[in-house]
Amino acid sequence: MNLYYLAITYDICEHNHFVEEMNEYRLDPNVEIEQQLIKLAKKDIVPLIKVYQSMTNDFKEVTLYKEYIFKEYECKCNN
Ligand SMILES: [Zn+2]
Repeated sequence: MNLYYLAITYDICEHNHFVEEMNEYRLDPNVEIEQQLIKLAKKDIVPLIKVYQSMTNDFKEVTLYKEYIFKEYECKCNN
């Protein structure tokens, strides 16, 4: 069974109750997921990536697979 993975990057500021969807990326099934996500988080500078999986490559029906947090990219405002 083939599974397809879609990653969506999110920019978040908890202080301003701000969440913005940034970009969508189709993941390469031949590369370890976490490796790809580390690069995407760095590229978009985002603290959250949600990964969705689908049985079909058109992503008509997706289920949430996992959420990955990147503490190093959390917003730096402190008030
Ligand atoms: Zn903030």
